[in-house]
Amino acid sequence: MTETSQIILPDKDHFLGDENPFEAMMSRFDVAAKLLNLDAGLYKVLRNPQTQIIVSLPIMMDSGETEVFTGYRVLYNTSRGPAKGGIRFDKGVTLEEVKALAAWMTWKCAVVNIPFGGSKGGVICDPLTMSLGELERLTRRYTASIIEILGPDSDVPAPDVNTNERVMAWIMDTYSMHKRHTVTAVVTGKPLAMGGSAGRREATGRGCMLVTRESLKHLGMPLKGARVVVQGFGNVGSIAAELLQEQGATVVAVSDVSGGLYNRKGLDVKDVITWREAHRYVAGYPKAEAVANENLLTLPCDVLLPAALENQITARNAGDIQAKVIIEGANGPTAAGADEILDRKGVFVVPDILANAGGVTVSYFEWVQDRDGYFWAENEVNTRLEEIMVRSFHHVLDVAKRHQVNLRIGAYMLAIDRVAAVHKLRGMYA
Ligand code: NAD
Repeated sequence: MTETSQIILPDKDHFLGDENPFEAMMSRFDVAAKLLNLDAGLYKVLRNPQTQIIVSLPIMMDSGETEVFTGYRVLYNTSRGPAKGGIRFDKGVTLEEVKALAAWMTWKCAVVNIPFGGSKGGVICDPLTMSLGELERLTRRYTASIIEILGPDSDVPAPDVNTNERVMAWIMDTYSMHKRHTVTAVVTGKPLAMGGSAGRREATGRGCMLVTRESLKHLGMPLKGARVVVQGFGNVGSIAAELLQEQGATVVAVSDVSGGLYNRKGLDVKDVITWREAHRYVAGYPKAEAVANENLLTLPCDVLLPAALENQITARNAGDIQAKVIIEGANGPTAAGADEILDRKGVFVVPDILANAGGVTVSYFEWVQDRDGYFWAENEVNTRLEEIMVRSFHHVLDVAKRHQVNLRIGAYMLAIDRVAAVHKLRGMYA
Protein backbone atom coordinates (compact mmCIF):
# COMPACT_ATOMS: atom_id res chain seq x y z
CA MET A 1 0.00 0.00 0.00
CA THR A 2 1.04 3.63 -0.36
CA GLU A 3 2.29 5.52 2.67
CA THR A 4 -1.06 7.28 3.06
CA SER A 5 -3.00 4.00 3.16
CA GLN A 6 -4.13 2.69 6.49
CA ILE A 7 -6.71 0.40 8.00
CA ILE A 8 -9.33 2.59 9.61
CA LEU A 9 -12.18 2.32 12.03
CA PRO A 10 -15.82 2.62 10.95
CA ASP A 11 -17.42 6.05 11.16
CA LYS A 12 -20.72 4.69 12.47
CA ASP A 13 -21.64 7.79 14.42
CA HIS A 14 -22.42 9.51 11.14
CA PHE A 15 -25.68 7.54 10.83
CA LEU A 16 -28.70 6.70 12.93
CA GLY A 17 -29.48 3.02 13.53
CA ASP A 18 -30.90 1.31 10.49
CA GLU A 19 -29.95 4.24 8.26
CA ASN A 20 -26.30 3.34 8.67
CA PRO A 21 -25.98 1.64 5.25
CA PHE A 22 -23.58 -1.04 6.52
CA GLU A 23 -25.86 -1.89 9.44
CA ALA A 24 -28.86 -1.86 7.06
CA MET A 25 -27.04 -4.39 4.86
CA MET A 26 -26.04 -6.49 7.88
CA SER A 27 -29.52 -6.63 9.38
CA ARG A 28 -30.79 -8.33 6.18
CA PHE A 29 -27.64 -10.48 6.01
CA ASP A 30 -28.33 -11.74 9.54
CA VAL A 31 -31.90 -12.82 8.70
CA ALA A 32 -30.72 -14.69 5.59
CA ALA A 33 -27.73 -16.27 7.39
CA LYS A 34 -30.01 -17.55 10.15
CA LEU A 35 -32.47 -19.08 7.68
CA LEU A 36 -29.55 -20.74 5.87
CA ASN A 37 -28.20 -22.02 9.16
CA LEU A 38 -24.84 -20.58 8.14
CA ASP A 39 -21.79 -22.07 9.87
CA ALA A 40 -20.68 -19.80 12.74
CA GLY A 41 -17.12 -19.40 11.42
CA LEU A 42 -18.29 -18.53 7.91
CA TYR A 43 -20.75 -16.07 9.42
CA LYS A 44 -17.83 -14.20 10.99
CA VAL A 45 -15.83 -14.28 7.75
CA LEU A 46 -18.69 -12.96 5.62
CA ARG A 47 -19.60 -10.24 8.12
CA ASN A 48 -16.22 -8.51 7.76
CA PRO A 49 -14.76 -6.67 4.79
CA GLN A 50 -11.53 -8.24 3.53
CA THR A 51 -9.60 -4.98 2.94
CA GLN A 52 -10.33 -1.32 3.75
CA ILE A 53 -8.10 1.44 2.44
CA ILE A 54 -8.14 5.17 3.10
CA VAL A 55 -5.99 7.55 1.10
CA SER A 56 -5.31 11.28 1.36
CA LEU A 57 -5.24 12.92 -2.06
CA PRO A 58 -3.43 16.28 -2.36
CA ILE A 59 -4.62 18.12 -5.48
CA MET A 60 -3.57 21.45 -6.96
CA MET A 61 -6.83 23.35 -7.51
CA ASP A 62 -7.24 25.75 -10.44
CA SER A 63 -6.83 28.65 -8.00
CA GLY A 64 -3.27 27.48 -7.28
CA GLU A 65 -4.22 26.34 -3.76
CA THR A 66 -3.60 22.80 -2.53
CA GLU A 67 -6.62 20.83 -1.35
CA VAL A 68 -6.51 17.39 0.26
CA PHE A 69 -9.37 14.99 -0.46
CA THR A 70 -10.11 11.67 1.27
CA GLY A 71 -10.63 8.52 -0.79
CA TYR A 72 -11.67 4.99 0.12
CA ARG A 73 -11.51 1.60 -1.52
CA VAL A 74 -13.04 -1.43 0.17
CA LEU A 75 -12.67 -5.01 -1.10
CA TYR A 76 -15.41 -6.88 0.67
CA ASN A 77 -14.90 -10.45 -0.53
CA THR A 78 -12.95 -11.94 -3.43
CA SER A 79 -13.60 -15.66 -2.93
CA ARG A 80 -15.51 -15.98 -6.22
CA GLY A 81 -13.14 -13.89 -8.36
CA PRO A 82 -11.61 -10.42 -8.79
CA ALA A 83 -13.29 -7.64 -6.84
CA LYS A 84 -15.73 -5.58 -8.88
CA GLY A 85 -17.27 -2.27 -7.87
CA GLY A 86 -17.82 1.31 -8.87
CA ILE A 87 -16.24 4.56 -7.75
CA ARG A 88 -18.41 7.33 -6.35
CA PHE A 89 -17.47 11.03 -6.16
CA ASP A 90 -19.80 12.73 -3.69
CA LYS A 91 -19.87 15.09 -0.70
CA GLY A 92 -21.70 12.46 1.36
CA VAL A 93 -19.25 9.55 0.86
CA THR A 94 -18.34 7.77 4.12
CA LEU A 95 -16.45 4.59 4.89
CA GLU A 96 -19.65 2.96 6.19
CA GLU A 97 -21.34 3.69 2.88
CA VAL A 98 -18.41 2.35 0.85
CA LYS A 99 -18.31 -0.82 3.00
CA ALA A 100 -22.04 -1.39 2.47
CA LEU A 101 -21.74 -0.78 -1.26
CA ALA A 102 -18.79 -3.23 -1.46
CA ALA A 103 -20.80 -5.88 0.39
CA TRP A 104 -23.79 -5.31 -1.90
CA MET A 105 -21.49 -5.80 -4.91
CA THR A 106 -20.39 -9.15 -3.45
CA TRP A 107 -23.98 -10.34 -3.04
CA LYS A 108 -25.04 -8.86 -6.38
CA CYS A 109 -22.35 -10.68 -8.39
CA ALA A 110 -23.36 -13.90 -6.62
CA VAL A 111 -27.11 -13.35 -7.29
CA VAL A 112 -26.48 -13.10 -11.05
CA ASN A 113 -23.78 -15.78 -10.74
CA ILE A 114 -20.87 -13.99 -12.41
CA PRO A 115 -17.31 -14.81 -11.33
CA PHE A 116 -16.53 -11.66 -9.34
CA GLY A 117 -16.21 -10.63 -5.73
CA GLY A 118 -17.33 -7.21 -4.51
CA SER A 119 -15.64 -3.86 -3.90
CA LYS A 120 -16.44 -0.17 -3.98
CA GLY A 121 -14.58 3.13 -3.90
CA GLY A 122 -15.44 6.69 -3.09
CA VAL A 123 -13.88 10.12 -2.82
CA ILE A 124 -15.36 12.84 -0.62
CA CYS A 125 -15.67 15.81 -2.98
CA ASP A 126 -18.28 17.98 -4.66
CA PRO A 127 -17.77 17.22 -8.35
CA LEU A 128 -20.49 19.68 -9.39
CA THR A 129 -18.31 22.57 -8.22
CA MET A 130 -15.02 21.23 -9.62
CA SER A 131 -13.51 21.93 -13.04
CA LEU A 132 -12.71 19.15 -15.48
CA GLY A 133 -8.99 19.62 -14.81
CA GLU A 134 -9.48 19.32 -11.04
CA LEU A 135 -11.57 16.17 -11.51
CA GLU A 136 -8.95 14.64 -13.79
CA ARG A 137 -6.13 15.34 -11.31
CA LEU A 138 -8.23 13.92 -8.46
CA THR A 139 -9.06 10.77 -10.45
CA ARG A 140 -5.44 10.17 -11.45
CA ARG A 141 -4.11 10.73 -7.91
CA TYR A 142 -6.76 8.40 -6.44
CA THR A 143 -5.88 5.72 -9.03
CA ALA A 144 -2.16 6.04 -8.33
CA SER A 145 -2.78 5.86 -4.56
CA ILE A 146 -4.63 2.53 -4.75
CA ILE A 147 -2.74 1.11 -7.72
CA GLU A 148 -1.41 -1.95 -5.88
CA ILE A 149 -4.89 -3.38 -5.45
CA LEU A 150 -6.21 -2.52 -8.93
CA GLY A 151 -5.89 -4.90 -11.88
CA PRO A 152 -7.97 -7.14 -14.15
CA ASP A 153 -7.29 -10.12 -11.85
CA SER A 154 -7.63 -8.31 -8.54
CA ASP A 155 -9.97 -5.28 -8.50
CA VAL A 156 -11.88 -3.75 -11.40
CA PRO A 157 -13.66 -0.37 -10.88
CA ALA A 158 -16.64 0.99 -12.84
CA PRO A 159 -18.72 4.20 -12.82
CA ASP A 160 -21.08 5.07 -9.99
CA VAL A 161 -22.66 8.31 -8.77
CA ASN A 162 -20.95 11.32 -10.42
CA THR A 163 -18.37 9.23 -12.29
CA ASN A 164 -18.71 8.27 -15.94
CA GLU A 165 -16.95 6.99 -19.08
CA ARG A 166 -14.52 9.91 -19.05
CA VAL A 167 -13.44 9.15 -15.47
CA MET A 168 -12.97 5.47 -16.41
CA ALA A 169 -10.77 6.53 -19.36
CA TRP A 170 -8.50 8.53 -16.97
CA ILE A 171 -8.26 5.55 -14.60
CA MET A 172 -7.39 3.19 -17.45
CA ASP A 173 -4.75 5.61 -18.74
CA THR A 174 -3.18 6.20 -15.30
CA TYR A 175 -3.03 2.47 -14.57
CA SER A 176 -1.61 1.73 -18.06
CA MET A 177 1.09 4.42 -17.70
CA HIS A 178 2.26 2.80 -14.45
CA LYS A 179 2.23 -0.69 -16.01
CA ARG A 180 4.01 0.56 -19.17
CA HIS A 181 1.41 -1.03 -21.46
CA THR A 182 -2.28 -0.58 -22.20
CA VAL A 183 -4.54 -2.56 -19.86
CA THR A 184 -8.13 -2.08 -20.97
CA ALA A 185 -9.63 -4.69 -18.58
CA VAL A 186 -8.65 -2.72 -15.45
CA VAL A 187 -11.94 -0.78 -15.53
CA THR A 188 -15.36 -1.26 -17.10
CA GLY A 189 -17.83 1.36 -18.26
CA LYS A 190 -15.14 2.78 -20.58
CA PRO A 191 -15.87 4.64 -23.81
CA LEU A 192 -16.59 2.26 -26.71
CA ALA A 193 -13.56 3.54 -28.64
CA MET A 194 -11.15 2.26 -25.97
CA GLY A 195 -12.46 -1.20 -25.08
CA GLY A 196 -15.89 -0.41 -23.70
CA SER A 197 -18.82 -2.70 -24.36
CA ALA A 198 -21.81 -1.91 -26.51
CA GLY A 199 -24.84 -1.63 -24.24
CA ARG A 200 -22.88 -0.95 -20.99
CA ARG A 201 -24.15 2.61 -20.54
CA GLU A 202 -27.76 1.44 -20.79
CA ALA A 203 -27.26 -1.88 -18.96
CA THR A 204 -28.40 -0.97 -15.43
CA GLY A 205 -31.51 0.83 -16.67
CA ARG A 206 -32.21 -2.03 -19.09
CA GLY A 207 -31.90 -4.54 -16.23
CA CYS A 208 -34.40 -2.46 -14.19
CA MET A 209 -36.81 -2.49 -17.13
CA LEU A 210 -36.45 -6.29 -17.47
CA VAL A 211 -37.14 -7.02 -13.79
CA THR A 212 -40.08 -4.58 -13.82
CA ARG A 213 -41.51 -6.49 -16.79
CA GLU A 214 -40.98 -9.87 -15.04
CA SER A 215 -42.43 -8.59 -11.75
CA LEU A 216 -45.60 -7.24 -13.35
CA LYS A 217 -45.99 -10.48 -15.34
CA HIS A 218 -45.63 -12.46 -12.10
CA LEU A 219 -48.20 -10.25 -10.34
CA GLY A 220 -50.63 -10.38 -13.27
CA MET A 221 -50.39 -6.60 -13.86
CA PRO A 222 -50.09 -5.19 -17.40
CA LEU A 223 -46.91 -3.24 -18.21
CA LYS A 224 -48.80 -1.30 -20.85
CA GLY A 225 -50.22 1.74 -19.10
CA ALA A 226 -48.54 0.95 -15.75
CA ARG A 227 -47.87 4.26 -13.97
CA VAL A 228 -44.18 4.63 -13.11
CA VAL A 229 -42.43 7.13 -10.81
CA VAL A 230 -38.64 7.43 -11.06
CA GLN A 231 -36.49 9.13 -8.41
CA GLY A 232 -33.05 10.10 -9.78
CA PHE A 233 -32.69 10.98 -13.46
CA GLY A 234 -29.04 10.05 -14.04
CA ASN A 235 -27.63 7.04 -15.83
CA VAL A 236 -29.88 4.44 -14.20
CA GLY A 237 -33.10 6.41 -13.74
CA SER A 238 -33.31 8.18 -17.09
CA ILE A 239 -32.51 5.06 -19.12
CA ALA A 240 -34.90 2.86 -17.11
CA ALA A 241 -37.63 5.50 -17.60
CA GLU A 242 -36.97 5.68 -21.34
CA LEU A 243 -36.99 1.88 -21.81
CA LEU A 244 -40.11 1.43 -19.66
CA GLN A 245 -41.90 4.04 -21.74
CA GLU A 246 -40.83 2.19 -24.90
CA GLN A 247 -42.47 -0.92 -23.40
CA GLY A 248 -45.77 0.93 -23.02
CA ALA A 249 -45.55 2.13 -19.39
CA THR A 250 -46.63 5.68 -18.51
CA VAL A 251 -43.88 7.56 -16.67
CA VAL A 252 -45.84 10.05 -14.56
CA ALA A 253 -42.99 11.54 -12.49
CA VAL A 254 -39.21 11.84 -12.45
CA SER A 255 -36.79 13.81 -10.29
CA ASP A 256 -33.17 14.71 -9.80
CA VAL A 257 -31.27 16.68 -7.21
CA SER A 258 -32.95 19.88 -8.49
CA GLY A 259 -36.49 18.61 -7.77
CA GLY A 260 -39.27 16.58 -9.37
CA LEU A 261 -41.66 16.74 -12.33
CA TYR A 262 -45.19 15.31 -12.32
CA ASN A 263 -47.66 14.89 -15.15
CA ARG A 264 -50.53 12.49 -14.41
CA LYS A 265 -51.06 11.92 -18.15
CA GLY A 266 -47.42 10.89 -18.59
CA LEU A 267 -44.16 12.65 -19.38
CA ASP A 268 -42.36 12.39 -22.72
CA VAL A 269 -39.14 10.92 -21.27
CA LYS A 270 -37.01 11.63 -24.36
CA ASP A 271 -38.13 15.27 -24.24
CA VAL A 272 -37.20 15.51 -20.53
CA ILE A 273 -33.75 14.02 -21.35
CA THR A 274 -33.29 16.66 -24.06
CA TRP A 275 -34.26 19.36 -21.52
CA ARG A 276 -31.79 17.99 -18.95
CA GLU A 277 -29.02 17.89 -21.55
CA ALA A 278 -29.62 21.56 -22.32
CA HIS A 279 -30.21 22.76 -18.72
CA ARG A 280 -28.16 20.24 -16.65
CA TYR A 281 -31.18 19.48 -14.38
CA VAL A 282 -34.84 18.55 -14.87
CA ALA A 283 -36.12 21.56 -12.87
CA GLY A 284 -37.95 24.12 -14.97
CA TYR A 285 -39.19 21.60 -17.57
CA PRO A 286 -42.36 23.30 -18.78
CA LYS A 287 -44.73 20.40 -19.59
CA ALA A 288 -45.14 19.17 -15.98
CA GLU A 289 -45.94 20.34 -12.46
CA ALA A 290 -43.05 20.72 -10.03
CA VAL A 291 -43.09 18.26 -7.13
CA ALA A 292 -40.74 18.12 -4.13
CA ASN A 293 -38.51 15.04 -3.92
CA GLU A 294 -40.01 13.86 -0.63
CA ASN A 295 -43.54 14.01 -2.11
CA LEU A 296 -42.51 12.22 -5.30
CA LEU A 297 -42.00 8.93 -3.47
CA THR A 298 -45.57 8.87 -2.19
CA LEU A 299 -47.33 9.79 -5.45
CA PRO A 300 -50.04 7.39 -6.66
CA CYS A 301 -48.42 4.90 -9.07
CA ASP A 302 -47.99 1.20 -9.84
CA VAL A 303 -44.18 1.11 -9.95
CA LEU A 304 -41.76 3.24 -7.93
CA LEU A 305 -38.17 3.15 -9.14
CA PRO A 306 -35.75 4.84 -6.72
CA ALA A 307 -32.55 5.44 -8.72
CA ALA A 308 -30.70 8.12 -6.72
CA LEU A 309 -29.06 7.38 -3.37
CA GLU A 310 -29.44 5.33 -0.17
CA ASN A 311 -32.10 5.67 2.53
CA GLN A 312 -34.84 7.33 0.52
CA ILE A 313 -37.60 4.99 1.73
CA THR A 314 -37.47 4.80 5.51
CA ALA A 315 -39.70 3.92 8.45
CA ARG A 316 -40.84 7.56 8.31
CA ASN A 317 -42.34 7.52 4.79
CA ALA A 318 -42.84 3.79 3.96
CA GLY A 319 -46.39 3.87 5.33
CA ASP A 320 -47.33 6.56 2.78
CA ILE A 321 -45.94 4.78 -0.30
CA GLN A 322 -48.74 4.07 -2.77
CA ALA A 323 -46.77 1.99 -5.30
CA LYS A 324 -47.57 -1.72 -5.62
CA VAL A 325 -44.08 -2.54 -6.87
CA ILE A 326 -40.70 -1.02 -5.94
CA ILE A 327 -37.75 -1.65 -8.25
CA GLU A 328 -34.54 -0.64 -6.47
CA GLY A 329 -32.42 0.92 -9.21
CA ALA A 330 -30.21 2.61 -6.61
CA ASN A 331 -28.12 0.73 -4.08
CA GLY A 332 -29.69 0.70 -0.63
CA PRO A 333 -32.62 3.07 -1.31
CA THR A 334 -34.72 1.32 1.36
CA ALA A 335 -33.61 1.52 4.99
CA ALA A 336 -33.99 -1.73 6.95
CA GLY A 337 -36.71 -0.21 9.14
CA ALA A 338 -38.98 0.18 6.10
CA ASP A 339 -38.93 -3.51 5.06
CA GLU A 340 -41.53 -4.69 7.53
CA ILE A 341 -43.88 -1.78 6.78
CA LEU A 342 -43.69 -2.46 3.03
CA ASP A 343 -44.20 -6.21 3.61
CA ARG A 344 -47.28 -5.50 5.70
CA LYS A 345 -48.69 -3.29 2.94
CA GLY A 346 -48.03 -6.09 0.42
CA VAL A 347 -45.61 -4.01 -1.69
CA PHE A 348 -43.57 -6.23 -4.02
CA VAL A 349 -39.97 -5.01 -3.61
CA VAL A 350 -37.30 -6.13 -6.07
CA PRO A 351 -34.09 -5.54 -4.09
CA ASP A 352 -31.08 -3.62 -5.37
CA ILE A 353 -28.81 -6.67 -5.50
CA LEU A 354 -31.11 -8.09 -8.17
CA ALA A 355 -32.83 -5.06 -9.72
CA ASN A 356 -29.70 -3.08 -10.60
CA ALA A 357 -27.43 -6.05 -11.40
CA GLY A 358 -27.68 -5.37 -15.14
CA GLY A 359 -24.77 -2.93 -14.87
CA VAL A 360 -22.30 -5.34 -13.34
CA THR A 361 -23.48 -8.09 -15.69
CA VAL A 362 -22.54 -6.06 -18.76
CA SER A 363 -19.36 -4.93 -16.94
CA TYR A 364 -18.54 -8.62 -16.75
CA PHE A 365 -19.19 -8.90 -20.53
CA GLU A 366 -16.89 -5.90 -21.06
CA TRP A 367 -14.10 -7.50 -18.98
CA VAL A 368 -14.49 -10.76 -20.94
CA GLN A 369 -14.40 -8.90 -24.29
CA ASP A 370 -11.31 -6.87 -23.25
CA ARG A 371 -9.46 -10.01 -22.20
CA ASP A 372 -10.46 -11.80 -25.41
CA GLY A 373 -9.74 -8.79 -27.61
CA TYR A 374 -12.97 -9.62 -29.44
CA PHE A 375 -16.10 -7.47 -29.23
CA TRP A 376 -19.76 -8.39 -29.43
CA ALA A 377 -22.61 -6.63 -31.24
CA GLU A 378 -25.07 -4.69 -29.07
CA ASN A 379 -27.93 -7.12 -29.69
CA GLU A 380 -25.73 -10.00 -28.48
CA VAL A 381 -24.94 -8.06 -25.28
CA ASN A 382 -28.62 -7.27 -24.74
CA THR A 383 -29.76 -10.84 -25.41
CA ARG A 384 -27.23 -12.29 -22.94
CA LEU A 385 -28.15 -9.62 -20.37
CA GLU A 386 -31.84 -10.46 -20.72
CA GLU A 387 -31.14 -14.18 -20.23
CA ILE A 388 -29.19 -13.52 -17.01
CA MET A 389 -31.65 -10.99 -15.56
CA VAL A 390 -34.73 -13.13 -16.26
CA ARG A 391 -33.05 -16.29 -14.95
CA SER A 392 -31.81 -14.51 -11.80
CA PHE A 393 -35.24 -12.96 -11.13
CA HIS A 394 -36.82 -16.43 -11.22
CA HIS A 395 -34.05 -17.97 -9.08
CA VAL A 396 -34.63 -15.34 -6.41
CA LEU A 397 -38.43 -15.72 -6.67
CA ASP A 398 -38.07 -19.51 -6.24
CA VAL A 399 -35.89 -19.16 -3.13
CA ALA A 400 -38.29 -16.57 -1.69
CA LYS A 401 -41.32 -18.81 -2.29
CA ARG A 402 -39.57 -21.90 -0.90
CA HIS A 403 -38.63 -20.12 2.34
CA GLN A 404 -41.72 -17.89 2.47
CA VAL A 405 -39.65 -14.73 2.67
CA ASN A 406 -39.67 -11.52 0.66
CA LEU A 407 -37.50 -11.13 -2.46
CA ARG A 408 -34.81 -9.22 -0.58
CA ILE A 409 -34.19 -11.99 1.91
CA GLY A 410 -34.50 -14.53 -0.93
CA ALA A 411 -31.78 -12.70 -2.87
CA TYR A 412 -29.49 -12.51 0.18
CA MET A 413 -30.03 -16.23 0.81
CA LEU A 414 -29.15 -17.13 -2.78
CA ALA A 415 -26.04 -14.92 -2.70
CA ILE A 416 -24.75 -15.92 0.74
CA ASP A 417 -25.23 -19.58 -0.09
CA ARG A 418 -23.17 -19.21 -3.29
CA VAL A 419 -20.34 -17.26 -1.60
CA ALA A 420 -20.31 -19.63 1.39
CA ALA A 421 -20.13 -22.67 -0.93
CA VAL A 422 -16.92 -21.34 -2.50
CA HIS A 423 -15.41 -20.58 0.93
CA LYS A 424 -16.13 -24.18 1.99
CA LEU A 425 -14.55 -25.60 -1.17
CA ARG A 426 -11.46 -23.37 -0.92
CA GLY A 427 -10.97 -23.96 2.81
CA MET A 428 -9.06 -21.64 5.12
CA TYR A 429 -5.53 -20.45 4.37
CA ALA A 430 -3.76 -19.90 7.65
P1 NAD B 1 -25.87 9.39 -11.64
O1 NAD B 1 -24.89 10.29 -10.97
O2 NAD B 1 -25.83 9.23 -13.12
O3 NAD B 1 -27.37 9.86 -11.27
C1 NAD B 1 -27.81 10.09 -9.98
C2 NAD B 1 -29.11 10.89 -10.08
O4 NAD B 1 -29.71 11.03 -8.80
C3 NAD B 1 -28.91 12.31 -10.63
O5 NAD B 1 -29.97 12.60 -11.51
C4 NAD B 1 -29.00 13.17 -9.37
O6 NAD B 1 -29.39 14.49 -9.64
C5 NAD B 1 -30.06 12.40 -8.62
N1 NAD B 1 -30.12 12.69 -7.20
C6 NAD B 1 -29.12 12.87 -6.31
N2 NAD B 1 -29.62 13.15 -5.09
C7 NAD B 1 -30.97 13.12 -5.22
C8 NAD B 1 -32.04 13.33 -4.34
N3 NAD B 1 -31.83 13.61 -3.05
N4 NAD B 1 -33.30 13.22 -4.82
C9 NAD B 1 -33.53 12.95 -6.11
N5 NAD B 1 -32.55 12.74 -7.00
C10 NAD B 1 -31.29 12.84 -6.57
O7 NAD B 1 -25.76 7.99 -10.88
P2 NAD B 1 -26.23 6.57 -11.39
O8 NAD B 1 -25.07 5.87 -11.98
O9 NAD B 1 -27.50 6.69 -12.15
O10 NAD B 1 -26.50 5.84 -9.98
C11 NAD B 1 -27.73 6.01 -9.28
C12 NAD B 1 -27.85 4.87 -8.27
O11 NAD B 1 -27.78 3.62 -8.95
C13 NAD B 1 -26.75 4.81 -7.20
O12 NAD B 1 -27.30 4.30 -6.02
C14 NAD B 1 -25.78 3.80 -7.80
O13 NAD B 1 -24.98 3.18 -6.79
C15 NAD B 1 -26.76 2.82 -8.40
N6 NAD B 1 -26.20 1.96 -9.45
C16 NAD B 1 -25.62 2.49 -10.57
C17 NAD B 1 -25.14 1.63 -11.55
C18 NAD B 1 -24.57 2.12 -12.84
O14 NAD B 1 -24.27 1.29 -13.72
N7 NAD B 1 -24.42 3.42 -13.04
C19 NAD B 1 -25.20 0.24 -11.36
C20 NAD B 1 -25.82 -0.26 -10.22
C21 NAD B 1 -26.32 0.62 -9.26
